[in-house]
Amino acid sequence: MWMSTFARFALPVLQRSTSPIACKALRACRRIEKAGVPPPCFLTPVGVRGHHTLGSASLPVAHHSVRHVRALDEERLLEVEWEDGGQSLFPFTWLRDNCQCPLCTLQSAQARLLLLTDLDVHTGVNVVEVTNDNKVSVVWPDHHNSVFDADWLRKRCFSTTARQAMQEELFLNERYYWDAKLRIPTADYQEVLHDDKAALAWLLALRRVGIVYLKGAPAEQGQVARLAERIGYLRLTFYGHTWQVQDKPMANNVAYTSGKLSLHTDYPALNFPPGVQFLHCISQAMEGGESEVVDGFHMAEQLRREDPEAFRTLTSLHVDFIDTGTDYCDFMLQSKNRIIDVDAQGRVTRINYNNATRDSVLDLPLHHVQPFYRALKAYVDIMNRRDNVVTYRMEPGDIVTFDNWRLLHGRRNFISRSDRLRLLEGAYLDWDEVMSRLRILRRTVQEEASCGHEATFN
Ligand SMILES: [Zn+2]
Repeated sequence: MWMSTFARFALPVLQRSTSPIACKALRACRRIEKAGVPPPCFLTPVGVRGHHTLGSASLPVAHHSVRHVRALDEERLLEVEWEDGGQSLFPFTWLRDNCQCPLCTLQSAQARLLLLTDLDVHTGVNVVEVTNDNKVSVVWPDHHNSVFDADWLRKRCFSTTARQAMQEELFLNERYYWDAKLRIPTADYQEVLHDDKAALAWLLALRRVGIVYLKGAPAEQGQVARLAERIGYLRLTFYGHTWQVQDKPMANNVAYTSGKLSLHTDYPALNFPPGVQFLHCISQAMEGGESEVVDGFHMAEQLRREDPEAFRTLTSLHVDFIDTGTDYCDFMLQSKNRIIDVDAQGRVTRINYNNATRDSVLDLPLHHVQPFYRALKAYVDIMNRRDNVVTYRMEPGDIVTFDNWRLLHGRRNFISRSDRLRLLEGAYLDWDEVMSRLRILRRTVQEEASCGHEATFN
C-alpha cells in the first residue's frame, strides 16, 4: 500500500505533539543559526507516516510573567526580564508604533490607526513599569500611555530564535521531504468537508508533505469546487474556474491528449503560478493513465549537493514560458521564471518547470545557453530516477491535492476509448488562501481542545 490514513488519529496526535514539534522546530532553527546554512530537509528519504505530518507549529502554551522592566535610554530599548529567566529587548519606536490602545489601533479590524506621520521614530520614554495585572506600561513624552500584554510581547521578541519560531508558526515552512517510498497521506473526503480536525490534518499534511489523497468523493463534477469552498475560493485561470482533463480534439494543452505527460509543474507561463492543485478522478482509462509525482524541493536539494553548478544556474537564470490559445477566453501569456526559486536564506521556495510551455524564445546571452541545458538536464535526470518517483493510479471518486509550487507531476499515456473516457476535473488555489484557512482551523481546533482539557494550546 502506498497510502496511509491519518484522519482518525489526527487530534490526539495533534494534542500530544504540539510542544515537541515546536521544540523540534526551534532546535532546528538554532542549528541553522549556528551553521549559517539554509534549513535542512527535515525528513529525508524515509516513508512519511501520516501521523508525522500532524504537528501544529504553534508554540506550546506558556503564560509569561514579567519580573522587571527597565528603559535603556541610550539605546532607546525597553528591556523586559521574564520570570523564567530570559530577557527580551524592544525598541521604543516599535513599541510606540504598535500601541494597542483604541486611539492607535482599530480594535474591530486589529489594524493600525496611528499614522507614520504622527510617529516620532526617535522617541524616548517617560515611565516604564509592570502593572498589577502583569502588563508592561509605557508612558511616552507626550503623556500617551501604552499597555502591553506579556504574552503578546513575548511572542514578538526580536531574538533570532523567537523570530524563527514565530515565522514557523505563521508559515509552516518546515517540510518533510520524500522519495519513491512515500506513503501518500490519505483522508476521507466527507470528513474533510464536515470535520474541522480532519480538514486541519489535511491542510497540515498538504503543507508539510506536499500531497494528500482524499477518498470517497462522488464520481461527478463539482467536487473540486466544493473542496475549494471549504478553504475560501479557487483561482480562476484561462482554463476556467475548474477544468476538465480529457482527450480532446484540437487540444489547447498537451494535458488534453492521451499522451504521456513528463514531470512538470502547472502554469509556469504565469509569473505567479497557482500554489495548490486539486485533481478529481471522475472516470479512469481502461489501460494506462497512472499518475506520477516527485518532490521537487527534495530533488532540488539533491541537485544542490550533487551538482552545485547546475543548481546555481537553475536558481539564477530566468527562462521564458509561453501559453497561447482559447478556453475561458483567448489568451497569449508570456512569463519569465527561474526553474528553481530560492528565498533570501537560500531555501527552495518554488519550482517552475513545464517542458511543453518552455518558450523557444530564450532570453539568455549565447554563452549561458549550453550551461542552461546541461543544468536542466541534470535536474530532470535526478527527478526521473526510479528511487524518486511515486506512482499511483487514481480511481473514480479519488481526489489528489498537492503543492504545485513544490511537486512535479506527470501521467503515463493511456488508451482512449469512446466507451470508457478518462476524465479528471481540476482546480487551482493559492497558498495565501490555503494558509489562511489552515490558521483559522488551527485556532478553532485548539480552542475546542482547550475547552475540553484545560489550556493545552495558545
Ligand atoms: Zn495609543
